[in-house]
Amino acid sequence: MTATVSVQSAVAVDVLAEAAAAGATVVLSGHVQPDADALGSTLALADGLRRRGARVVATFPEPFTLPTSLGWLPGADQLVPPDSVPAEVDVFVSLDAASTGRLGSLAALLETAGQSVVVDHHASNPGFGDVRLVDPQAAATVVLVAGLLDGLGVELDQTLATCLYAGLAADTGSFRFGNTTPGTHELAARLLRTGIDHAAISQRLFDTAPFGWLGLLSAVTGRAVLEPDIGAGVVWTWSTAGEAREHGLAPDQLEALVDVVRATAEADVACVLKGQDDGSWVVSMRSRGATDLSRVAMALGGGGHRAAAGYSSRLDLAGTIAELRTQLDRVLTER
Ligand code: AMP
Ligand code: MN
Ligand code: MN
Repeated sequence: MTATVSVQSAVAVDVLAEAAAAGATVVLSGHVQPDADALGSTLALADGLRRRGARVVATFPEPFTLPTSLGWLPGADQLVPPDSVPAEVDVFVSLDAASTGRLGSLAALLETAGQSVVVDHHASNPGFGDVRLVDPQAAATVVLVAGLLDGLGVELDQTLATCLYAGLAADTGSFRFGNTTPGTHELAARLLRTGIDHAAISQRLFDTAPFGWLGLLSAVTGRAVLEPDIGAGVVWTWSTAGEAREHGLAPDQLEALVDVVRATAEADVACVLKGQDDGSWVVSMRSRGATDLSRVAMALGGGGHRAAAGYSSRLDLAGTIAELRTQLDRVLTER
């Protein structure tokens, strides 16, 4: 942790400790279509602040549908939809959201809450909120949350450790990605020492899907396109929320597809275009190392990290692909 980040963390702890001691109302939210890091961060910090005396409301932006693979996280049953958030909020905490746009209607709380605290690790975060604990070196937002819980004097037990481990394992690709450091493993060791069943957590997160997922996977990988001449190579494919439902799946099952596609050796960049019910496309991008995708995503109105980034497009499928090719070409030739 750099000196600046330690100072930011200490300021965030002060704000949260004071709010908790006063029994203030603290609202916490992760980003839209939350993943294990967003939800794990939200639920762990919510539980910690509750234990310190705060009146806590944990939520996430519309559509308020919990991903199938995350409904079992401890405390998930206490999440409330954004329209149930009280009007008077003392402190709003944003977790793992790279920009205000990722908070949906909850972004209004950045203005209306007495104070806002932003906890994030995206390189593309432009800086927002009153207190900004933003560390692109952190492998996951849960790493920063673990620091906050320590600062608040909350002891890690299995409930908290389960939430934190889920975020840590997800954002590091089970400790395979380049963001994994000795500190990542040290935190993982602390979490395992609480006695959590890490194998069961990983199985639920990464190795569990309905049989229909195999059919979807076969359709989606079967139509993948390899374009070796764009930069260091691009592989892309697409699916839609409707196609997921045809296979008996919730649309959030599309999220895991990119993890299969990105194994393609001939392509540094893997993209999965996910058609939404409103006709827009949500694009997930992964790099095997040679391409800075946060720059590509930012140029297209999204954000993320070097190796994993995303954005939304209102163009049709052909238009979305054409625009993506152009931006990949641009970033790859500027290199
Ligand atoms: P995903 O492909 O949805 O798993 O996202 C990959 C990474 O990019 C995650 O860290 C996301 O938080 C980030 N990301 C995805 N979409 C956006 C967006 N529209 N704006 C900012 N960051 C994004
Ligand atoms: Mn996330
Ligand atoms: Mn994250």
